[in-house]
Amino acid sequence: MDFDYRGPQSPSRAELRAWQDERLRSLLVEISTNRFYQEKFGFAGMKMSEARGAADLSALPFTTKSELAAEQFEHPPGRPLRWLDTAEDWETFLRCWVEVYRGAGVTENDLVFCAFSFGPYVSHWTGIEGARHAGALAISGGGMSSEQRLRAILDNRCTVLVCTPTYALHLAEVAARLGLDLRSSDIRVTIHAGEPGASVPNVKRRIEEAWGARCFDHAGATEVGAWAFDCQAADGAIHLNELEFIFEVIDPKTCGAVDEGTRGELVITTLGRPGMPVLRYRTGDLVEMATEPCECGRTLARIKGGVLGRADDMLSVRGVNVYPSAIDDLIRAVPSIVEYEVEIRRVSEMDDLLLKIETDGLSPFAEVERAILAAFRAQLNIRVSVAQATAGSLPRYEFKARRYKRVAE
Ligand SMILES: [Zn+2]
Repeated sequence: MDFDYRGPQSPSRAELRAWQDERLRSLLVEISTNRFYQEKFGFAGMKMSEARGAADLSALPFTTKSELAAEQFEHPPGRPLRWLDTAEDWETFLRCWVEVYRGAGVTENDLVFCAFSFGPYVSHWTGIEGARHAGALAISGGGMSSEQRLRAILDNRCTVLVCTPTYALHLAEVAARLGLDLRSSDIRVTIHAGEPGASVPNVKRRIEEAWGARCFDHAGATEVGAWAFDCQAADGAIHLNELEFIFEVIDPKTCGAVDEGTRGELVITTLGRPGMPVLRYRTGDLVEMATEPCECGRTLARIKGGVLGRADDMLSVRGVNVYPSAIDDLIRAVPSIVEYEVEIRRVSEMDDLLLKIETDGLSPFAEVERAILAAFRAQLNIRVSVAQATAGSLPRYEFKARRYKRVAE
């Protein structure tokens, strides 16, 4: 098989698996002196050189973030977990971002604006460099206020915005206050990173309406890379980049593989980061995988609804299991809600939710409250409490929104 830069084009599922097997074997040769993984193979009663492909991975113990952190604590630099990328690892990360851009239809005619802060957040750097690899021009929005970012987007006539879904909505709120019309801006595509949400139907719709653009999801993690990307089919399922990773979905409790289409925790093996590889990495992300071909022509598997939540984020509200993404979807369906926060109180082994709601003040709060209560009852079958938050009082997030707060009983 030809190790083309991008891998086989429109491969069959069998060709994909063969490509993964071959890359896994060459990775294992490259990292054969890695003591951390030698031990894992030893535990499975196997030598690294004996593995034939992805099927052999199932015998290996999983790798977890806390295990990596503990390993690094014993062998300094210590905490927090540092991630080392070789030039080859970095190239892989960028190649993954090229797929993110290509999937969203970004070309050399585009001008990409990355609205993240300068800092160790990896997507800021890979997003910008990845845009260059995709042939586009990129502008960094690091170290700017929201107003400066809006002016930069409009003045430079940027066509693509990269940021968290929360921040795209926040920028729209600031633009409205400044009297700036984003719908007539040149932004035609928004691509989201840093948190799930862009696959939540009502979040996606609100971003698209605010910006007059098409909204694309993407998923990634420092430890793994940009492992999923959206495509033009835009049917709410996003592609897993199986050219660069091996994906498994397991039951988080039994740790056994689940059937296709069943919700479970995503486990990822990186194929192109020999500097700091992860084999069978437990992401904590809950997904539903499907392998039927996509309308866009890609044969890569997809996850329906993007990342559905984190295995440890599940709330149990009066006996009903609810994920934050479902709550997000209901709240974002009410047009006058600007921002919200959820207080979780543990009462007799169950979670009680208090929703603090900030509105644009255009409709009476009692009406907003009624709409929320009705939606939660009808769609999630749970009762919640609602309180009004003063305009501008809730935090606005640029990165990884933390809207859920646990409070003491
Ligand atoms: Zn597709």
